[in-house]
Amino acid sequence: MIVMKFGGTSVQDKAAICRVIEAVAKHQDRKPIIVLSAMAGATNGLLRIGDFAYQGKRAEAEAISGQLRDHHLTVAEQLLTGPRLEKAQAFISQCFSEIANIIQGLYLLGECSSRTKDALAAFGERLSTSVFTEALLERGYQSALVDSRELIRTDNSFTQAVVLQDISFPLLRQRLTPLLDAGKIPVLQGFIGSTSDGITTTIGRGGSDYTASLVGAAVNADEIQIWTDVPGILTTDPRIVPKVYKIKTISFAEASELAYFGAKVLHPSTLLPAVTRNIPVQVCNSFAIDKPGTFISAKGVSSKTPIKAIACKKGITIINIYSTRMFLAHGFLLRIFEAFEKYRTVVDVVSTSEVNVSLTIDSTARLEQILEELRKFADVEVEHDAAVICAVGEDVRNTPGVAGRIFSAVSSINVRMISQGASRINVTFLVGGNRMEEAVRALHNEFFQAPDPATFEPC
Ligand code: ASP
Repeated sequence: MIVMKFGGTSVQDKAAICRVIEAVAKHQDRKPIIVLSAMAGATNGLLRIGDFAYQGKRAEAEAISGQLRDHHLTVAEQLLTGPRLEKAQAFISQCFSEIANIIQGLYLLGECSSRTKDALAAFGERLSTSVFTEALLERGYQSALVDSRELIRTDNSFTQAVVLQDISFPLLRQRLTPLLDAGKIPVLQGFIGSTSDGITTTIGRGGSDYTASLVGAAVNADEIQIWTDVPGILTTDPRIVPKVYKIKTISFAEASELAYFGAKVLHPSTLLPAVTRNIPVQVCNSFAIDKPGTFISAKGVSSKTPIKAIACKKGITIINIYSTRMFLAHGFLLRIFEAFEKYRTVVDVVSTSEVNVSLTIDSTARLEQILEELRKFADVEVEHDAAVICAVGEDVRNTPGVAGRIFSAVSSINVRMISQGASRINVTFLVGGNRMEEAVRALHNEFFQAPDPATFEPC
C-alpha cells in the first residue's frame, strides 16, 4: 500500500482534481490511501474570517466565507451529478452555516481563541476531502471518506498540536486496514486531528505532509508520495539559473540541509516518522503525473557529481564578535549564545577562530538589544545585506577538492564567512547580497555542466 498526499494547488479546482484522480487511478493496484490539503487559499481564507469577525469586521468575514462557499459549490457542480452532487452541496451548506455561527460568536465576543482558529481552519480539509471522495465515487472508484479527527489524536496545544503517535497509530491501522482489504480507497484530511475529548486541533501550517508521513508510518506503507506543483527537488532556484536539473534521489540529511533555505516542496522534518522506518518518500508533480519526481531516502546516495544542490538566501546579517579574552577562556561561547537566547533570535551559520566568532541571523527584530548585550564583553561588528549560499551533497565528505572547486568558481567574489557542518555534507559561505546570483550561477556552472545522469535529470 502507498500514501498519496496532494497539496492545495493539486485540489484547487476541477482541472486539478481530475489530474489527481488520474494519478490515483494509475496507482490503484498499489492500494493508495489519499491525504488531502484544503483547496489552495482556503486555510488562509478561513483564518482571515476569524480575524475579521473578532475585530468587528463582520461584512469582510462574511464576504470571504461567501467566496469560499461559492468556490466549493462550483467545483462540486463541475465534478458531480445527481445524489452525489446533492450530498456534497448539503455538506458544503452545513459547513458554511456553522462558519456563519462562528462568525456571529466571534463578532459578539470580540476575541478568537486558538481553539476556535483550529475549528475554522479544519473546514478547509473537511470540505476538500468530501468533494474529492464524491468525485472518486462519481468516476466509479470505491472510495471512503475517513475523518482524521477520529484517528489522529493530539494534545491540546491548538494550532500547533503534538500528535500522540502511540494512540494514533493503532487507530489508523484499525480503521484503514479493513477499508483497504475491502478494495476501497480511503480519503483522509491532512493537517487536522483531535484531542482525547474530541476537540478539533491542527498540527501546524503545512501539516498535511506530516499527516501523510504519520499515516504511512502507521500502516507501514511501501511508499509515501507527496504530490505538489513543481517537478521535484531542483539543483538550484530556476529563477537564478535557467537550466536546472531535477534531483532523482536525495538523502534525508541533504534535504534537511536545504530546508532552511525554503527549498520549496517540503520540510523534511515532517517526514521523519516515515524516514526513520525506512519508508521511501517521493516528491511528485501533479502537473506531470507520468514523470517520476525526487526520491528521499534515509541513507545517502552516492553520485559522480559531488554536489546535489545549491541553495541560497538573501537578507542575512553577519555579526562578528572579537575578544582577546576569548583566548583560553571557557564559557565565552555560552555568553554569546545566551544573548541570542535571551532575545529569542535564531542563529544559523557559525564560524569561530581563537579570537573571533562570526555568526549569522535572519531576523534583526531584536538586533539592538543583542548587540548591547554582546558589547558588554566583546567588540562587535555587524554586516547587513549578506547572502548565504550552501552547496549540499553527501559526496562532499569523501571527494577531495570539492571545497577548492567551490572557492575557485567564486574567486572573483569576496567571501565573507565560511562554515562546514560536522556532517560534512555541506559547504556554506556568505557573500554580499548583490553578488549572490552571480555566485550561484558560477557554482552551478562548475558542478552541473554534465551532471551524473544516474542522479540528475533535465527538467
Ligand atoms: N491546509 C493547511 C495549510 O495551508 C495544511 C497543508 O496544506 O498542509 O497550512
